[in-house]
Order: sequence, then C-alpha cells, then structure tokens
Amino acid sequence: MIDFISKRTWGPTPKYPTVLSIKPCKPGKLISIAGPCAIENEKQIKKIASILAKAGCGYIRGGAYRAGTYPPDNFGLDRNLMTMFCNVAKNYGLKSIIEILDIRQLDTILADVLQVGARHMQDYALLTELSKQKKPVILKRNMGATLDEFLGAAEYLVRGGKRNVMLCERGSSTHMNHVRWDLSISLIATIKQMTGLPILVDASHGTGRWDLVAPMTRAGIAAGADGYIAEVHPEPNKSLSDADQAIPLVCYPALHKRIQRIWLNR
Ligand code: PEP
Ligand code: MN
Repeated sequence: MIDFISKRTWGPTPKYPTVLSIKPCKPGKLISIAGPCAIENEKQIKKIASILAKAGCGYIRGGAYRAGTYPPDNFGLDRNLMTMFCNVAKNYGLKSIIEILDIRQLDTILADVLQVGARHMQDYALLTELSKQKKPVILKRNMGATLDEFLGAAEYLVRGGKRNVMLCERGSSTHMNHVRWDLSISLIATIKQMTGLPILVDASHGTGRWDLVAPMTRAGIAAGADGYIAEVHPEPNKSLSDADQAIPLVCYPALHKRIQRIWLNR
C-alpha cells in the first residue's frame, strides 16, 4: 500500500499533479447534506428544510434536472420548483445543492452548490466548463469508475486552479444482490491518503437501501470521510424516485447526531 501511494504521489511522472498537490483540507465542520432525491413540491421541501435546519444539517439537496436510470416523467425540469427550493433553503439557513447535467443549465440553477452525478462523471466538456465558474462542485464517482478514472475526472475540475470541489463515493455496480450499489469504504480511506479534496460518503445511493444508510454512513465517516449525503423523505413510500433508499425524515436528527459524534471523536 505504501509503495502504491508513494509511486503515485512522489514518483517521476505523477498522474495527478494538481489533485495531489492540493493541501489537505481540514474542514472545521462535518459536511452534512440531506434532502429528497427529487424536488416534488413546496410542502415537501419546507417540511424537510425545517427538520434539517433544526438538526444542524448544513446543506439541503434535491434533484431538478435528473439523470436517473429511466427518464424522469412527472418531476424535474420545473424552474418554479427549483426557485422555490433555493428560496426555502435560504430561509432556513441551509445551502442548496442541485445536480447539473449540461452546462447550458448553469444560469437556470440558482443553487449554492452544483452536483455532477455519477452518470456524468466523465463528461469532460461539462467538467471543463464547471472548472471555470465559481460555485462549489460535488463530483460523484461513476458506479463503474476506478480510482484512477475518478481522480482523472477530478483533475478536469481543479487543474485550472478551482479548489472548491468535493468528491463523493456513491457505490459501484456489483454482482452482490443484497444491495443496489456497493459502497467502497476502502476508496474513501484511499482518497483521504491521496488527495487534499474533501470526500463525502453517499450511503443512500451507495447501498440503495434505507436501512443501510445509517450504518454505512457511520462506516464512511469512521474511515475518514469529511461529510455525508443522505436521502430523506417525509413519507419514503410516496417518494417519486429512489423510494427504497430514503430514510424517513423523522429519523434524520438522531442519525445526524450520531454521525457527528463519530466525526468529532475519530
Ligand atoms: C442523486 O444524487 O440523486 C443521484 C442521482 O446520484 P448518482 O448520480 O450518484 O446516481
Ligand atoms: Mn437519488
């Protein structure tokens, strides 16, 4: 392991000079991100935002432009919903996060943070354009991407000098059939050793199972993750997408408290 890392970091032809040369970031705060898979309506967002804010969560996430396995039908692509989402977030003192699929959407997304989803991780044209704008970007690992491919994609974002980039582990395709995706805890620990960028654990997409979100988020934080993403919903069984992996909103405050304790004590 030491050889592997030292070759990559200090060998004669380092593959990722910029990512690796970033000074290790030590966010003074756990990066906590939660929210629904999709922005559905104002009532849903207000309810979620109020609980998240009260629990001490920092960011609310919500899908508008979505890249799901199947094309979205009755949600997303609604600018009024997106504006409402960002306004509600602001009113509750939360930062907002929305996924971007295409650089032409940049002006329509008022969110504080842009997410590049797993399916767009290697959209190099998008990454290059995003590297030129100011908003923080979350880059999710594609479900089939290796460490090299993930860091190579991150390099597109940071090579021009952009530093407000967060990486996110969200699981791989797997032959295992007890989960939808298989979260890699070892990847989180490796990224902590290799780069100075914050790494987030997304155990919602990283398992596809709501009952595994808490234990796998705790594992990711214990392994060194700087923060987490969890999908929550007031009524998960009515969620318009990713219903199986959303934790009930009422469970969120206890989950956050426990994760924070692990982060503080590790
Ligand atoms: C999401 O965050 O809702 C999402 C679709 O994530 P991923 O790109 O990891 O599948
Ligand atoms: Mn989702």
